[in-house]
Amino acid sequence: MITNKQSNFILKGQIIYSKPDWSVSYNENAYIVCEEGKVEGVYENLPDAFKAYPIIDCKEQLIIPGMSDLHVHAPQYPFRGLGMDLELLEWLNNHTFPEEAKYQDITYAHKAYSIFVDDLLYSTTTRACIFATIHPEATLDLMSQLEASGLYTYVGKVNMDRNGSPRLQEESAAASYKATREWIISANKSFKHTLPMLTPRFIPTCSDELMNKLHTLQTEFNLPLQSHLSENLSEINWVKQLVPTSKFYGDAYHQFGLFGGEVPTVMAHCIYSPEEEIKLMKQNNVYIAHCPESNTNLSSGIAPIRKYMEEGLNIGLGSDVAAGTGLSLLKSMAMAIQVSKLYYCLVDQDKKPLTTEEVFYLATLGGGSFFGKVGSFMPGYAFDVVVIDDSAIKAPRSLSLKERLERILYYSDQVQITEKYVDGQKLKIASK
Ligand SMILES: [Zn+2]
Repeated sequence: MITNKQSNFILKGQIIYSKPDWSVSYNENAYIVCEEGKVEGVYENLPDAFKAYPIIDCKEQLIIPGMSDLHVHAPQYPFRGLGMDLELLEWLNNHTFPEEAKYQDITYAHKAYSIFVDDLLYSTTTRACIFATIHPEATLDLMSQLEASGLYTYVGKVNMDRNGSPRLQEESAAASYKATREWIISANKSFKHTLPMLTPRFIPTCSDELMNKLHTLQTEFNLPLQSHLSENLSEINWVKQLVPTSKFYGDAYHQFGLFGGEVPTVMAHCIYSPEEEIKLMKQNNVYIAHCPESNTNLSSGIAPIRKYMEEGLNIGLGSDVAAGTGLSLLKSMAMAIQVSKLYYCLVDQDKKPLTTEEVFYLATLGGGSFFGKVGSFMPGYAFDVVVIDDSAIKAPRSLSLKERLERILYYSDQVQITEKYVDGQKLKIASK
């Protein structure tokens, strides 16, 4: 919920943000000026020009950019923390599809989505790319709750016309196209900062005919797209069988014109991407949503993020609930570091582990850039801000801002989020 219509104001406190060159700027007792929803600048001493603006003093609290969750499944939130005993394909059949089938019932969907939206609101996330289910009515309900929250999101009604379950599959490619087209028109009419995104679940659940129809929708409405890529070895083999003409998994999307380029695209996971796939992702500006907790929980593997960074690919983080257990991107940042250490030890000692500052970049500016000038406090960026009280993490000495940034990743359950802004609008968050 949005509570503050004031467009020009200042926050004072301990300001940390990433810059496009991956360096991190630490600013003690500094001021960040918001003008018309954008960052005007960060100052150690407040210039006279802004002296008339109201100042909100956040004192010792950390002021950081809002984070972007590039991959999360809202309908899976009810079974988070359950069913981690299986790998991807069995997990989908045994846990995910039966739960998602329940969203046919709008009463259940509304209740489940309200829990999800409340928790997303009380997190460091300000923007997200969200999967819903195949059900248009429930998806519009989710979008309407997200719109009221003030968060900025892309949401996808999921497409699947094969290899689902008897209760979770669209009747045909034509039926999926029709329902999706009507949903897009309705969403475009109803919402300002909750936008539709094309969401073929993944190649195994979408026939060639459906993929062609999604390309038609993409052209008609100029929508971005999200899906899954190269997550699990059994899945990759299956894709090869289903689309025998594809040279690699990403090519199975590319053949239908649905792999970046003109279409802003997020692909989750990319654990086993071969060189050709990496090349095509780079060429087509495809965003990688790195989901380290999910990849660990489903025994999927470790994505070679250091390699992707060296290649200059676009990378952000995803919580990937419910294969990830929660919505905290602070926790995802810690896990991104941890799995990169395992990759370094066990797979490739040329690929150094990720640092705190690098994962901070991924969570803020890396993922944020999918939404435009988002995820930094450089002038002209969206004023997406999270204020964090970390005073419950006790220390016998004073810590530098760099040390405090590192600590909040590992003790994310001890921090309080006290203020949150999207495009300069203050959101009403309920503290937990
Ligand atoms: Zn996923």
